[in-house]
Amino acid sequence: MKKFENWEIFEDIATIKITKTIKEQLEIYFEFLNSENEKYNLTTITNLDEVYRKHFFDSLTFCSKLELNNQKLCDLGTGAGFPGVVIKIFFPDVEVHLVESNNKKISFLNQLISKLNLKEIYTHSQRAEIFAISKKEQFDIVISRAVSELNILLELGAQLLKINGYFVCLKGPKIDWELQNLNNQNYKLGLELRDRQNLDDKIIGVRVNLFYQKLRKTPEIYPRQYAQIKKKPLGK
Ligand code: SAH
Repeated sequence: MKKFENWEIFEDIATIKITKTIKEQLEIYFEFLNSENEKYNLTTITNLDEVYRKHFFDSLTFCSKLELNNQKLCDLGTGAGFPGVVIKIFFPDVEVHLVESNNKKISFLNQLISKLNLKEIYTHSQRAEIFAISKKEQFDIVISRAVSELNILLELGAQLLKINGYFVCLKGPKIDWELQNLNNQNYKLGLELRDRQNLDDKIIGVRVNLFYQKLRKTPEIYPRQYAQIKKKPLGK
């Protein structure tokens, strides 16, 4: 069976040491993702090199910017586990919570977690905005990739963060348009944009990671019901 070889891309991100366990876990992840893909409709990316780069590597580009060890992290709309499961594999000390509204994907994730023998990683079969109301101010880091536009996404998850915690939004080339639509209304949620990481990788293309810090309590009215958020997102 073909194996992934370009480990230097991971080592270049930060001071990540690629252990034998990490390699084995990613192999199992890749195989299980491929074998279950048809049943669960998980990803359009199936080629080995692309899965390692566009899913595994792409899930970690942010990590040079943030202290992760011993943090409590929540991944909103994790799908097949990106970035949450990959973060857990590389940083086993992080307590990871995966939130996903699609039950079939939760079933895939539960089987995956058991196959990888991961501990302190929890799945929540729920919509993010409902989960956020029940777990206010419990997380150091909230992260999300490819779930919704910024002016919706920030409202879904801001309430989950502890004061001083970070909301990490993994975004693509449309980011400037999304920021324009948000129109700085993130302050209403108690969030401030602290850092922006721009990457343009041969394989993953343009990737922009935004780091919002929660400086003040998020008002109780947020998150509103999804229908309201969608109808009148922040900034509109
Ligand atoms: N983060 C993954 C999946 C992106 S697809 C990745 O980058 O590959 C978006 C996922 O978010 C889908 O699985 C969808 O079911 C889930 N999702 C969308 N809105 C959601 C919400 N409000 N709460 C929880 N999950 C949501």
